[in-house]
Amino acid sequence: MSGQIIAAETLTDGATLTCDVCVVGSGAGGATVAAGLCEAGLDVILLEEGGYHTRRDFDLQEQNAYPMLYQERGLRATDDGAITILQGRNVGGSTTINWTTCYRTPTRILRHWADRYGLDELGGDKLNPHFEAMEARLNIQEWPEELANENNRRLLEGCRALGYQVHAVKRNVRGCANSGYCGLGCPHDAKQGMLLTTIPDALSAGLRLIHHAQAVKLQREGAKVTSLSARVKRPDAQTDTGAGFTVNAKVFVCSGGAINSPALLLRSEINPNKLVGQHTLLHPVVAMPAIYEQAIEGWSGAPQSIASHQFVDRGPAMGFFMEAPPLSRCSPRAAFMASARCRLTSCPSSATSA
Ligand SMILES: Cc1cc2nc3c(=O)[nH]c(=O)nc-3n(C[C@H](O)[C@H](O)[C@H](O)COP(=O)(O)OP(=O)(O)OC[C@H]3O[C@@H](n4cnc5c(N)ncnc54)[C@H](O)[C@@H]3O)c2cc1C
Ligand code: SF4
Repeated sequence: MSGQIIAAETLTDGATLTCDVCVVGSGAGGATVAAGLCEAGLDVILLEEGGYHTRRDFDLQEQNAYPMLYQERGLRATDDGAITILQGRNVGGSTTINWTTCYRTPTRILRHWADRYGLDELGGDKLNPHFEAMEARLNIQEWPEELANENNRRLLEGCRALGYQVHAVKRNVRGCANSGYCGLGCPHDAKQGMLLTTIPDALSAGLRLIHHAQAVKLQREGAKVTSLSARVKRPDAQTDTGAGFTVNAKVFVCSGGAINSPALLLRSEINPNKLVGQHTLLHPVVAMPAIYEQAIEGWSGAPQSIASHQFVDRGPAMGFFMEAPPLSRCSPRAAFMASARCRLTSCPSSATSA
């Protein structure tokens, strides 16, 4: 059986679709769930508010990639504007634009969840078969240290000089050209995000993938969610056409990411314990740029290929990783350059750890 990729604009306004399971969001969570359910023989509809884009659309231009692939054109931020929140909005979600660093959830975190929240089913070795299956499907392997770009090499050398723990990172790539443009969509089809893995798996098992379809509200009959109303986005994914449709399903999966999923539940007035949206945690990244005498050209070469976990466990204090992110994002960089009164000609010789 083969599935369908449907542009929401082609549906009749006011249409009602029916399926076993309706999944909202086609990122790491949603696409993986959809593939598993389709392979188990269920009839699944996957809704994605962003567009369906492939390597032919990834032209490495920030001005095109951010509006096309990111939530709020890459400018999503906390209310006070203090923290930028990068999230994807496209078929594949954030996995289309992420930086390919792959870790298993650490044992101490699984233990914490079990001890504090009673999530025993995630503890011990219980997730190992799932980690192994995804590592195989996404071709997750250590990126050779000798391929680290200059930005990452500075982190490696600095940690070694200080006697800090440092290691080569595992990445989900196949045939990676080491170009460094992961955050703008991989033009080589090397990144093994959902776009190239679990979404094709789900489609070959019968998935109906509807893009440019924004889930607006879940409707209930008593305590059970029975339908969902969706609005149709224009091809730029920024504005609405004014049309809409309904999906009736036995089960709904809310996988719109850590900000949009609670928003959908709150819009739908599904908040039985008054906890939805109350415990959102951000993973802040603090950049530490430096100017070197020699060229670094940190936009070139795989991002985050080296990391240090020297300060992960600091007892009661918050721990942190040290990594060298890609330097393709202009805005924070421009701010640093301005504040340091540097000329942009220094850009090729600057490196950033975070
Ligand atoms: C630039 C960047 C770099 C990153 N680098 C790494 C990395 O190197 N390593 C790592 O482990 N993690 C990284 N991450 C994080 C990682 O990609 C995410 O944690 C992961 O993808 C989250 O999965 P998710 O399914 O919760 O959400 P997402 O993958 O974000 O998918 C959610 C999808 O749901 C859609 N959606 C939301 N609301 C609706 C709605 N109402 N209706 C329809 N669709 C909706 C969104 O458009 C989006 O496509 C990075 C993220 C970004 C943005
Ligand atoms: S480094 Fe380049 S080729 Fe490799 S995954 Fe990232 S964008 Fe694709």
